[in-house]
Amino acid sequence: MMPAMLPELGSLVLLSIMTWILLRGLGARRARNFAVLGLVFAGLSCGAWLSVLAMEPLDWVRRVAGSLTALTAGQTQLVWVSTLALPRNKVWLRVLAAPLSVWAGTSLAFVLMQPEPAAWLIGMTQALCALCVLAWVFLPWIGRERGSVAIGSRAVPSLRSACPRCGTRVDWAKGLYACTDCGLFVHLDWGQDPQVRDALKQQQDQGRTMRFACPGCDKVRDWARGEHHCSHCQTPVRLHWNEHKQGPKP
Ligand SMILES: [Zn+2]
Ligand SMILES: [Zn+2]
Repeated sequence: MMPAMLPELGSLVLLSIMTWILLRGLGARRARNFAVLGLVFAGLSCGAWLSVLAMEPLDWVRRVAGSLTALTAGQTQLVWVSTLALPRNKVWLRVLAAPLSVWAGTSLAFVLMQPEPAAWLIGMTQALCALCVLAWVFLPWIGRERGSVAIGSRAVPSLRSACPRCGTRVDWAKGLYACTDCGLFVHLDWGQDPQVRDALKQQQDQGRTMRFACPGCDKVRDWARGEHHCSHCQTPVRLHWNEHKQGPKP
């Protein structure tokens, strides 16, 4: 009995991992709609797999469950691609990887839906899924955290955190730096360097925060706008960004 249930149980494990990624995507404004759609697919496919487990397994229920899982996977990858950190000059890779996620998920769903899918459809799905595997390997490598960003010929120290406006992960250079995707300017400074200290007001804002490791002691915590001292190592951190009425580009 157990080996026969492996596809169902494996799918449910996969679905819970994807649900975790989708729930995290809800926090990023630009990925929120994709994440909601993905969670709807995830809920439906979870129900379909559970009914396969509970009932006398009907072939068409199993095919529907597989298709819904493929659609969930497409949305999950879309959320991941939308919020992944990429260097400013490589942001265009998102424009390739985002539709790829949806195409791969949808064409895999078509293959799993049909009892005997056409050879061209199988071939196309294999090609799209192979490109997705390439993206899983290369995108994190391209966006790996280097601890600094190149501005002209200088390497400026940076901290990685989700953009407080669009939710994309960005390596923020020390000083004034714009989000790679929505262009929000964030002024982030740390240490005793008094260079920009006076430019920032002593405002304490309990609104949205940014989360990154303290540059002094590497302890990860949430930082609000304004000037703060790390509760652990006392490194001063100054953080500011402007609110604009206009939302991020989708
Ligand atoms: Zn942004
Ligand atoms: Zn610290």
